[in-house]
Amino acid sequence: MIGLLRLLFLAVASWFFLAVIRRLFRASSLPGQGKDEAPEQITALLVQDPQCGRFLSERDALQISVRGHVAHFCSQECLDLYRKSRIAQKPTSK
Ligand SMILES: [Zn+2]
Repeated sequence: MIGLLRLLFLAVASWFFLAVIRRLFRASSLPGQGKDEAPEQITALLVQDPQCGRFLSERDALQISVRGHVAHFCSQECLDLYRKSRIAQKPTSK
C-alpha cells in the first residue's frame, strides 16, 4: 500500500517536473515573443502633429526644429504645410 502511494507520488512529481521543464523550454524557444522585450516598443513616446493634430509615435514622426523647439509631423505634406504657415505668419521677415 505504501509502495503504491510512493509510486503515485513519484508519477505526479515527475509529471509536474516535466511540465515545468516544458514551460521553461517553451518560454526560451520563442525569442521576440517574450513579454520582456515588448514594453520598449509599446512605451514609445507619443507626439502630436501640430498641423493635422494626429498623434503618432516619435519613431515614425518627421522632425524639424522651429526656433529651438522640435515639431513632429506624420507626413512630409504636413511638415511642408506647417513650414509654409509658419513662414506666412512671420511678420516682415524679408
Ligand atoms: Zn499630419
